[in-house]
Amino acid sequence: MMSALSESDAEQETLRLFVETVEQAPIAISITDKKAKIIYVNKEFCRVTGYAPDDVLGENESLLSDKSTPRQVYQTLWRTICRKESWQGQLVNRHKLGQRYLADLTIAPIVNALGVITHYIGMHRDITASHEVEKKVSNQKLLIESVINSSPIAMVVIDDNDRVVLDNQLYKALVSDLDKSEPAHFFLQLLRDEMTEAWLELQNNNQGFTNREFRVETKGGQGARWFSCAGNWFVENEVSADSFFANNQKKYLILTLTDITKQRQHIEALHLQTLKTIMAEDERVRSIRETLLGAIHQIQMPMNQISAAEQILLHKRDEKNIHLINILQQIQTSGKNAVATMQACIPVIYHSAEMPVNLNQILHEVLLLEEQSLLTHNIDVQWRPLAHLPTILGSENRLRILFKQLIDNAIDAMIQSENPNKQLSISTQTEANLLIVRISDSGNGIPCDKRSKIFEPFYTTNKGSNTAGMGLVIAKEIVSQHNGLIDIDNDVEQGCCFQLSFPLHKSSRLEVTHV
Ligand code: FAD
Repeated sequence: MMSALSESDAEQETLRLFVETVEQAPIAISITDKKAKIIYVNKEFCRVTGYAPDDVLGENESLLSDKSTPRQVYQTLWRTICRKESWQGQLVNRHKLGQRYLADLTIAPIVNALGVITHYIGMHRDITASHEVEKKVSNQKLLIESVINSSPIAMVVIDDNDRVVLDNQLYKALVSDLDKSEPAHFFLQLLRDEMTEAWLELQNNNQGFTNREFRVETKGGQGARWFSCAGNWFVENEVSADSFFANNQKKYLILTLTDITKQRQHIEALHLQTLKTIMAEDERVRSIRETLLGAIHQIQMPMNQISAAEQILLHKRDEKNIHLINILQQIQTSGKNAVATMQACIPVIYHSAEMPVNLNQILHEVLLLEEQSLLTHNIDVQWRPLAHLPTILGSENRLRILFKQLIDNAIDAMIQSENPNKQLSISTQTEANLLIVRISDSGNGIPCDKRSKIFEPFYTTNKGSNTAGMGLVIAKEIVSQHNGLIDIDNDVEQGCCFQLSFPLHKSSRLEVTHV
């Protein structure tokens, strides 16, 4: 009897515990009959809804409805719970005082021993605040996306694994414009190559960078485009469960790519104008030099003959010749004076300082200088620069003169040739520690027996022209000043091909042109 009593006491205690647990649970709980008529509500239900138990007991749960929840939601709710399954979803409820709140609700059916639904239990939480935060975040994301999209600059956000996590319309346009599946990877490579250690330092200190300019050759002869790159790193706290206590962080780079082609073209046009002036002045100085050197060369021959004649007469020791010897000596003296005067008049060529030079840039400039002449004579230019061309150490001005001379020669050769297919090919490449430039034309070429003479002073294959035959001498001199070599490629069957090689500058920076 004693043990039966204590068993019933224990059951009572457990029941009381259950009731207290439900009563004090920090979630709004209601129990209804099969038609959603409320038969029990806990304290949290009263707190969340504002209703006292007496207000709601015997009422339908629809009392809570704000009537703005679509009918379809209720139909799904009821279909689910009638199938003896739990339903979970969000409804708009109305507080007793009238304000709306968003309820995250779970309804579960309660079945008896026969498996028949007798009641339903509903549990809900007011999620208005967290929903508002969520919406604000997604609104902010939309705002940021639309700001980024309407930006007149290509923008891309890259994570620490170089994955693109956000981009804008202008960035997407670069994919086809530059013919690159992920332009960000291309620019990242350029930036890392250029900044080397500085890149890591900036990244580690979350410091940004600006005005990193790159020239990019586009496909299809659309010419080069220039981009100015700027970047800023930002750190984000990770949101995954793994990072809940660890507070892991992720670093992102916002990269902006401004197309500065127009500005660069303007600068390039001014630069070209300056170059034209410099080159014209250089040509003037060169032609004076050539004329004077030619004249000295011309005077030197009769002078040598006069000197020889004088020596013969002196050798004969004939008194009768003294007068003639005097005249010859006077002629020689005045000849020497004339040569000295001419030598003094030879203008000096000032050499510009040596610096790392990108030959792609120099060749590009010379081609621009020759543009008019190439167009006039209908010459097709095949320009094949090496994409990542190292620099050489040298004088930009001298190198420009060198390439202009070779291209001028090529144009002349093609004009004189009968070959209607006029083609000028220029390429740059590297071999071991050498930078190779090849300039070939489709003219008549240089006969094998004359190839050894073309670098000699005053030698010209072009008899009819008024050239002094000093162009290739100067070209060779400039190549030698740059510790390079110039030669004719004997394997070329049609036309003429000059091959030039220069030692690479040791700490050569990567200047980039994409073909
Ligand atoms: P109603 O006419 O009540 O119902 C709309 C649709 O549900 C109709 O298509 C109807 O056919 C179907 N339906 C209604 N009752 C039944 C039923 N007994 N069996 C089968 N189908 C039925 N609603 C809220 O808005 N907020 C709440 O917090 C909420 N909590 C609930 C808690 C529980 C435990 C239960 C069982 C229901 C709860 N409901 C709640 C649903 C509520 O009972 C109403 O169905 C809903 O509020 C729509 O009310 P109504 O008057 O607009 O339409």
